[in-house]
Amino acid sequence: MKLIIHGGFFSESTTNQEMKKAKQDALAEIVTLSYAYLQSHTALETVSFAVSLLEDNLLFNAGLGSQIQSDGKVRLSASIMDGTTRKFAGVINIQDVQHPIQVASLLLNYEDSVLSGEGAVHFARENGHAHFNPVTEQRLSEYEAKLNQKNNLGTVGCVALDASGKLAVGTSTGGKGFEIPCRVSDSATVAGNFANAVAGISCTGVGEDIVSVALSAAIVTRVTDGFTLKEACDKSFAELKTIDGFAGVIGITATGEVYHTDSHPYMVWASFDGSLQVFN
Ligand code: ASP
Repeated sequence: MKLIIHGGFFSESTTNQEMKKAKQDALAEIVTLSYAYLQSHTALETVSFAVSLLEDNLLFNAGLGSQIQSDGKVRLSASIMDGTTRKFAGVINIQDVQHPIQVASLLLNYEDSVLSGEGAVHFARENGHAHFNPVTEQRLSEYEAKLNQKNNLGTVGCVALDASGKLAVGTSTGGKGFEIPCRVSDSATVAGNFANAVAGISCTGVGEDIVSVALSAAIVTRVTDGFTLKEACDKSFAELKTIDGFAGVIGITATGEVYHTDSHPYMVWASFDGSLQVFN
């Protein structure tokens, strides 16, 4: 069993020691709890569990505490993929729900498995997801001061390999902040979140760059075709460099390779496979 999670990029990590410690502690706690959960649950169930905990944590830009779009509204996107069945489900720009990843998980059971905007909200309400306001004081003051325009990427993601060798991946985001309303991020696309029976990848970074090189899908395909996870990431990050792209990834293969890398310092992450590792 293997598990890795990310909490997006954190540009202040090098200077703000207090915030760095808070993120290390939060990721360590969530990956430890989620690894315990993985002992008796599938990779798919565990991904939804881990991403829900990340969505609940104010330190990350997903669920509660998400970035606010340029019209003052919070729109959330999340997706989940079952590596075994290759079913992908997601919500794009959903509003006023606490756990977008859980709405995405529910959609795995439907033929129409990616919903956006009002349709996604309607589906969530019909399936018991109550109205939830994800705006925090902190995000509101950042929005009002227009301080968080470009560099506060804190999307979350999780890749899990369960006891029966099955892989799953989930990613959830509040977007990049101050974007044109209804801009679509990579997080609920196969560029930002992709798995098959061989490998699973969750991305963070600039959504448009991630889409331009189909980052998750390309890495998973390369591993499927024989690359190691590291080789596949190296090749895709070389491609990303040609467009001066900004991204970070976490991944696991069915053979148990766990890897993370980023184009810019630095992505915050934690993994657990018997022993805990946290970004430094
Ligand atoms: N990828 C997300 C987006 O472009 C942002 C992030 O990863 O923090 O919306």
